Amino acid sequence: MQCPRDGADLAVEHHYGIEVDHCPTCNGRWLDHHELDALEATVESTKGQRRAMVQYSNRDSDINCPVCGKRMTAFNYRAYDLELDTCREEHGYWLDSGEEGRVRDIIEDRIRGLERAAGAEAAWGSFLSGLRGGGKRSSFFDRFRGGGR
Ligand SMILES: [Zn+2]
Ligand SMILES: [Zn+2]
Repeated sequence: MQCPRDGADLAVEHHYGIEVDHCPTCNGRWLDHHELDALEATVESTKGQRRAMVQYSNRDSDINCPVCGKRMTAFNYRAYDLELDTCREEHGYWLDSGEEGRVRDIIEDRIRGLERAAGAEAAWGSFLSGLRGGGKRSSFFDRFRGGGR
């Protein structure tokens, strides 16, 4: 499968049985539709409510589905300011690397209610650590550079 952004070959990553296709060029990630279903299913409070969480917009995405090549649709998670791209044929979801911060917030939010599903938490944690960029480290060194005022 190829990246819908830049055409690079996606590398398959496995996180506790969940398959994620990662683009080495732009750091975007592709989740198959059923894989996100499997993750959502581990969150008790959202059981049977997944459809309601997803709010489809009329906006066409600017990328095409890497599975069927059709134009994807942008949608928002309700109550979250996050736009993801999805295929109308339900092939999967595309997450741009720039969206990683928002995705992490959402997932961490949901993981708080996930005590019983340790495996799912580990899966999300592993998935998200892959999404995490650098940047935190600089503030640590800034404290020294600033003279500890
Ligand atoms: Zn890419
Ligand atoms: Zn598709």
